[in-house]
Amino acid sequence: MIIVLFGAPGVGKGTQADILAQKLGIAHLSTGDAFRSAISNRTPVGLQAKEYVDSGKLVPDEIVARIVEEAMATSDFSKGCILDGFPRTRTQADALSALLDHVGRDIERVVNITVDDSTIVRRLLQRGRTDDVEDVIQHRLDVYNQETAPLLDYYAAKGKLVSIDGLGTVEEVNQRILDALRGT
Ligand code: AMP
Repeated sequence: MIIVLFGAPGVGKGTQADILAQKLGIAHLSTGDAFRSAISNRTPVGLQAKEYVDSGKLVPDEIVARIVEEAMATSDFSKGCILDGFPRTRTQADALSALLDHVGRDIERVVNITVDDSTIVRRLLQRGRTDDVEDVIQHRLDVYNQETAPLLDYYAAKGKLVSIDGLGTVEEVNQRILDALRGT
């Protein structure tokens, strides 16, 4: 089962992906986590990605492809995967689709978690990661709206998209996602 968790920074994708991966017994691939780990380990990909991650810009697609390949080589995706923060551009979506075609798999659902912008900014400021400062947050939201949100139409046209309300407790939101995955 391949599930994409979609939504702006700060909607809770990472938290929900962790819980879902456990409940469903499948892997969790967060490209953001993979980049942060590569940066702290100073790997070649990490060194290339650092300036983009620090400034809230999208890492170029070819570097993203490399981190995804590295993750695929080191984790067990045989039972499926929750994708969190990937794909973020049309090029990445096409690359993912080619990759899945190649192994005879398909995305089951793209779950779009929606939260209003003021709540997002408040949540991210509380989280306090190095890229969670006000000007970088604003830039990440702009990048999301310009480059990533257009993928919503792409996945809706494929009949894959379901949107859920990301406001509420972690458990409430998780239940909504599970209901959406079961199609209720
Ligand atoms: P995240 O943890 O998903 O909020 O990602 C943190 C940062 O990592 C982003 O602001 C980007 O700089 C970079 N990043 C993560 N995933 C991607 C992706 N799929 N494409 C481009 N950049 C990414």
